[in-house]
Amino acid sequence: MTNPPPEGRRDLRALPKAHLHLHFTGSMRPRTLLEMAQQRRIRLPRGLTDGVGLQVEPTQRGWFRFQRLYDAARAVVDSEAAMRRIIREAAEDDAAEGSGRLELQVDPTSYAPHVGGLTPALEIVLDEAEASERATGVSVGIIVAASRTRHPLDARTLARLAARHAGRVIGFGLSNDERRGDTTAFAPAFRIAQNAGLASVPHGGELLGPDHVHNVVTSLHPDRLGHGVRCVEDPRLLEQIVDSGIGLEVCPASNASLGVYAEATDVPLRALTDAGAAVALGADDPLLFGSRLLEQYETARIMGFSDTELAALAASSIRLSRAPEDVTARLLAGVEDWLSGPALLPPPEEQGRTAQR
Ligand SMILES: [Zn+2]
Repeated sequence: MTNPPPEGRRDLRALPKAHLHLHFTGSMRPRTLLEMAQQRRIRLPRGLTDGVGLQVEPTQRGWFRFQRLYDAARAVVDSEAAMRRIIREAAEDDAAEGSGRLELQVDPTSYAPHVGGLTPALEIVLDEAEASERATGVSVGIIVAASRTRHPLDARTLARLAARHAGRVIGFGLSNDERRGDTTAFAPAFRIAQNAGLASVPHGGELLGPDHVHNVVTSLHPDRLGHGVRCVEDPRLLEQIVDSGIGLEVCPASNASLGVYAEATDVPLRALTDAGAAVALGADDPLLFGSRLLEQYETARIMGFSDTELAALAASSIRLSRAPEDVTARLLAGVEDWLSGPALLPPPEEQGRTAQR
């Protein structure tokens, strides 16, 4: 790769990237949520309609507030049409931000009662993922995610379902409040998923520190950690993660919203990449955090990442994805083209402006 001038600022929207940490309901456009709620005469809590990103303390109370808003948003997703619309719009929004690969996490449990069960719920998701890929050009993979708040046997049921659909389903995750549930109890579910060739992509190292990251690493053998940022607190653990090639799905806006760090720019992205960690920036739940994928790259730029380093972050996200080889090769070539192309120097008032819609 050629070295761009240090003052070079290229259009981050045009930088090909992969989006590996995005939740189904959390990906919704605020306008779509509002429209669907109105159609159903559902009153949404103000926290979902005020256009302000969520800001809570990193306590159980803070998480409860986040979860309550999330549940309120999920309550409008009560039909096949609603499910399809969410996936289509997530792919469209990713396309608009330069993402060429989306790996979307869904826990089909909440939607199953509306569409006749877990299997139809997942099949709708997979069918629409394929249709959205054709329509938008964004390659779409699905991660089936279990919840820490439910019984580990439920996780096994989901893992078996995910395993039966390996292909378009590319991974198995574990989400919700990291402080809840016994991580080791989910190991059998992850074994089922990994035996079927699925990637292990549990959350960990967000609300809890190195001890829990260590537990996730030894019990669930992750290919990537959802967040994982707090492994930075233990240099030996970080080194182990780097050596084992475990990717970190770093979501600065999410960490700031949930109070893990005071500001998005306080997220230790630089320390992680300096240590050699493979990072993929993600938006997590843009509906609640008011910040989409592009803004995470803009945050990295504010942190001082040069265009060369931003291109390396994008390339890292692509390599960490489970995209088909031809997609990976095409996107990586696009990153090189981006970096060898001309730098833009937009007026200062436009620099760092975000993709608000
Ligand atoms: Zn997440």
